[in-house]
Amino acid sequence: MKRLRFFVFLLLLAALPGCGGGSPQSADVLAMDTVMKLTVYSQTEGQGEAALQKAVDEIKALEGLLSVTDESSEIYRANHSPGRAVPLSEPTRALLSDALALCAATDGALDVTVYPIVRAWGFTTGACRIPVEEEIQSLLAQVDYSRVFLDGDALTLPVGTELDLGAVAKGFAGDRLMALFRKEGVESAIVELGGNVHALGCKPDGSPWQVALQAPEGGFAGMLEIVDKAVVTSGGYQRFFEKDGARYIHIIDPKTGYPAETGLASATIVAGSGLLGDGLSTALFVMGRERAEAYWRTHGGFEFVLLTETGRAVISEGLEGCFHLYGEWENRPVEVVRR
Ligand code: ADP
Ligand code: MG
Repeated sequence: MKRLRFFVFLLLLAALPGCGGGSPQSADVLAMDTVMKLTVYSQTEGQGEAALQKAVDEIKALEGLLSVTDESSEIYRANHSPGRAVPLSEPTRALLSDALALCAATDGALDVTVYPIVRAWGFTTGACRIPVEEEIQSLLAQVDYSRVFLDGDALTLPVGTELDLGAVAKGFAGDRLMALFRKEGVESAIVELGGNVHALGCKPDGSPWQVALQAPEGGFAGMLEIVDKAVVTSGGYQRFFEKDGARYIHIIDPKTGYPAETGLASATIVAGSGLLGDGLSTALFVMGRERAEAYWRTHGGFEFVLLTETGRAVISEGLEGCFHLYGEWENRPVEVVRR
């Protein structure tokens, strides 16, 4: 996440005719290195504006706490105070504690300390390069989420270890926004946080939200119908560079230090928790199809759509009936994974 760069456009839209659940109001926010679009349907006068303003403030506050480049953020402070305890505020502590649990549950497929490797490949600045083997091996020695020491609200990192919560921050932010909207009395809302979609309730007309799934080659591959859920996709096509005919993607296998190559083009998670969805979309992408299916069978609590590089779609059984292929992918078979 870059230094705080914050542009907010409040777009007040006219009420849609025929919708029973109030009028939509939207805000576009540029934060956490991505474009965020928030839409709430308010029941009462002024409810939408108030909820959106609080949501924008919340995103701003979270970015200020979690940015790896903003010198006043808690993560920056921890990354630059090796061996010393840094106090964390409640949201950072809650996010880090859940993220570390997810790193452990995924056996390190998600690892919040992989940042030095991501930086070495140039994905943090856009100046992409292929690091030499010795560089990767020496940086890998510092990558280990289990060395992150969180004691109550005190965070201590060993020398050389750096934290980046980028793989889970947007999911967490989405969860906070949903909680905030509920508190404000909003019953229906949808937010897009750069690829992550969080839906509160159903559409104002009572039907499920429809979320399009991107096709790796461009356009759309599928459509998901959801109520009160987050849909999060990690895809190799989202950020990558090419050199000598080979493609290097921004999702790193923390065991090897190289971009994850498991035959998946994307991993999409549908879950009640955005944090879980965000962390698992990255982790399942790193795991590849077989390990991802095994993880789902053992842990549950979410559903998935995997698109493979050979053009296959694989879904977990809970999505049967609320997922269909679309466009170029429409006539391809969907494999359903059962427990
Ligand atoms: P994005 O945030 O780009 O939508 P992800 O949620 O999949 O996509 O997170 C990928 C980002 O997280 C990468 O850009 C990188 O900074 C970091 N990252 C890459 N691989 C891992 C990993 N295995 N575990 C944790 N973070 C990772
Ligand atoms: Mg993620």
